[in-house]
Amino acid sequence: RPLLAIETSCDDTACAILAYDGRILAEEVLSQKDHAKLGGVVPEIAARAHLDALPAIVSSVLQKADLTLSDIDIFAATTGPGLIGGLIVGSSYAKGLAIAMGRPFMAINHIEAHTLTPRLPELEGDLQFPYLTMLVSGGHCQCVSVKDAGQYVRLGGTIDDAAGEAFDKVAKMLGLGWPGGPALEKLAKDGRDDSYDLPRPLKGRAGCDFSFSGLKTAVSRLIEPFGSGALPRNIAADIAASFQRAVADVMKDRAEHALEMAPASTALVVAGGVAANATLRSCLEGVAHAHGIPFLAPPLRLCTDNAVMVGWAALERLHQGDHPDDIPTAPRPRWPLSERTAFRASVSD
Ligand code: ATP
Ligand code: FE
Repeated sequence: RPLLAIETSCDDTACAILAYDGRILAEEVLSQKDHAKLGGVVPEIAARAHLDALPAIVSSVLQKADLTLSDIDIFAATTGPGLIGGLIVGSSYAKGLAIAMGRPFMAINHIEAHTLTPRLPELEGDLQFPYLTMLVSGGHCQCVSVKDAGQYVRLGGTIDDAAGEAFDKVAKMLGLGWPGGPALEKLAKDGRDDSYDLPRPLKGRAGCDFSFSGLKTAVSRLIEPFGSGALPRNIAADIAASFQRAVADVMKDRAEHALEMAPASTALVVAGGVAANATLRSCLEGVAHAHGIPFLAPPLRLCTDNAVMVGWAALERLHQGDHPDDIPTAPRPRWPLSERTAFRASVSD
């Protein structure tokens, strides 16, 4: 019986329907374009836009799957972490549908969903536990050892900005639009990555924490001399390329450390929107191959925020024998993966 999932934790309104075995029956993502003009996500505007978009996107996905609401066996939605307004809107909507149809509701952790995505049957990666995920997105940057569905060990994470956030901020300094990651990568193609000797924060240090603030400051110092005038394009391109190289070097070092900390990992996985970056991907691929394990990066549409991953995380939990009622359903703007593990342990103990 199919499952319907909703994702609204940031600025993408997404809905998907999956069969019980994980086949994707229909999916749709609606990105809120207004935020590009505003230069970032405005939480209140995002929440209202989710509310406007949900009824149409849900019926459109049902239509694509050739199903009606009464065919849906279970409803799932992201309840955290993320922007509280969007979380409330999306999860209340899904809960409302569940109550109206007399079906269960399942609350899903957004990070858990990103982390489990590479196991989707359609990716045919045959990914087995335990594996190592580098989650690099606009809001998150962490290394997670995935021992099982519901069992995660966070090996390290950022102590300041997320990787995507650093890309976005540096892109802004270079006068690029928002979100800045893709624009920065494009510009970097025209630059030389050894033009500037930028810092590699925490490289070589024990553990696998990240830090990007020093790197960001170093870039702002390079730009300072140009004042408020436009930065010459060739210089902006050289800075972009050098910045990207620095991030990739750090990522490589951190991934190597993470694999030392979790030596049983069967694969190295990259997830989150920053996984779109080809330089970072090839760096991480190199690390995986040096360790003799496969490298996996889901296709872009499943790397950025989407509802397929939410549905899949719910299915993984169901396949594990979890009951929807076992999971607290109140939206939580902050919801570390470790707390889910602690919760489960206290329930079964
Ligand atoms: P989260 O998933 O943590 O809630 P989010 O919704 O912002 O946050 P995603 O949609 O997964 O995250 O990813 C968006 C981020 O990825 C943005 O910060 C964007 O700049 C970055 N990004 C996208 N493409 C690239 C790229 N090619 N190179 C670098 N960064 C990129
Ligand atoms: Fe995300």
